[in-house]
Amino acid sequence: MRTIGHFIGGREVKGTSGRTADVFEPMTGEVQAKVDLASKAEMRAAVENALVAQVEWGATNPQRRARIMMKFLELAQRDYDKLADLLAREHGKTVPDAKGDIQRGLEVVEFACGIPHLMKGEYTEGAGPGIDIYSMRQPLGVVAGITPFNFPAMIPMWKFAPAIACGNAFVLKPSERDPGVPMALAALMIEAGLPPGILNVVNGDKEAVDAILDDPDIKAVGFVGSSPIAQYIYERAAATGKRAQCFGGAKNHAIIMPDADMDQTVDALIGAGYGSAGERCMAISVAVPVGKTTADRLMEKLIPRVESLKIGTSVDPSADFGPLVTREALNRVKNYVEIGIQEGATLAVDGRGFKMQGYENGFYMGGCLFDNVTKDMRIYKEEIFGPVLSVVRAHDYQEALALPSDHDYGNGVAIFTRDGDAARDFAAKVNVGMVGINVPIPVPIAYYTFGGWKKSGFGDLNQHGPDSIRFYTKTKTVTARWPSGVKEGAEFSIPTMN
Ligand code: NAD
Repeated sequence: MRTIGHFIGGREVKGTSGRTADVFEPMTGEVQAKVDLASKAEMRAAVENALVAQVEWGATNPQRRARIMMKFLELAQRDYDKLADLLAREHGKTVPDAKGDIQRGLEVVEFACGIPHLMKGEYTEGAGPGIDIYSMRQPLGVVAGITPFNFPAMIPMWKFAPAIACGNAFVLKPSERDPGVPMALAALMIEAGLPPGILNVVNGDKEAVDAILDDPDIKAVGFVGSSPIAQYIYERAAATGKRAQCFGGAKNHAIIMPDADMDQTVDALIGAGYGSAGERCMAISVAVPVGKTTADRLMEKLIPRVESLKIGTSVDPSADFGPLVTREALNRVKNYVEIGIQEGATLAVDGRGFKMQGYENGFYMGGCLFDNVTKDMRIYKEEIFGPVLSVVRAHDYQEALALPSDHDYGNGVAIFTRDGDAARDFAAKVNVGMVGINVPIPVPIAYYTFGGWKKSGFGDLNQHGPDSIRFYTKTKTVTARWPSGVKEGAEFSIPTMN
């Protein structure tokens, strides 16, 4: 059986803790690999390695760092199909979707190639008599990323590309459910010319995560995963004075106004609600039609589309979506469907009985659609993270606007309308971090930033875009006075510019 160790000091090393986890192939339900789970001591060894390597890397000129990123892009293109196949087999998503996962990560690497420009400081000549002021951005040292199972290529790249480009060394703790692609990406970075020790992948579970959080030599931690863990990481990281940005779960609403183009809206809901089996933090999980007529028109078109979704293996290019990541995840989602029925929601489409012929042990289920969901139900309040869409009927626009605004989560939201005024008002007022106007999955492009509000994000700087450079650097400001500006005699008052 394939074994997956850690990637430390520029090469794969075997774990020494004696603890491992199973890595499944969701489409067959078989265990396909064993991944080593690091001990605290193994994590510390990786950090020590990174500390030594970072000194020279941080002093390397930014153009050289950018060139390594450029070479990495080239190598990732070379290995694109291989990486997508590995990703699909470990995660369960389809190969075309896996390619998108890789591509959205590579776009952040492209952004990081601009590091010579992005890291420029500021300069003010003549801020006072003979006084010039300038600021510079310096790397933090060793930083860490803890990432979820659902984007095993994209989110590691969102973390390590800007961090490394800024001159830091990076320790990545990917999800133990699909660690193969992060390991492959680290090997590609070395092939691209990255010095050993600058990008380390330490596989593990809570023990490895806690070792990161308690290590005083790790200066920042970027987390993406579920909200309870995000909050835990945020609080514990602060105890050792780390910077922390921790992104959590979601419940993304789509508001459907009476004037929306219903065919386009249904296409958007089907893709964003059921793509990747709903295992996306930006998946639409709640549809909010405004007015009874809109709701009835929506349901009439939506039901047959959900019933005819094509579920397939991860390597079936014609499948709409594949299996869920584990049997545990599958059971959890099915349990939520049962809860919804008991809470009194109308299960308009029930995909729980779906069986994949020839792959009976795979983690499959069909799409489910609930109607008449209300605000007090658990299926509305909690993140299900599966192919389940809930329809909450709103009487008017104000009620629809209040639903995502008052929800505990605040990651993404979308409005479907032809009315520019309504869309503009919605974008300005909704209490959510990322908004789509006739765009169901408004994941901002790499040179903007990505981040949710409320329980979807803890910390004050977003991922990628300009915020990532701020997060992975510290600013130093230098005030310089030269003899022509020096007055005679000591100054006892606080200097001012009067
Ligand atoms: P998860 O919280 O179970 O795991 C995320 C990471 O935390 C993994 O590396 C895991 O090993 C680690 N971890 C798990 N339990 C831990 C514990 N008790 N103590 C310390 N570390 C622990 O999340 P997941 O199931 O891998 O991913 C799905 C979740 O991620 C969903 O909630 C989804 O919405 C969210 N997500 C959010 C974003 C975003 O940007 N907001 C993006 C993708 C996914």
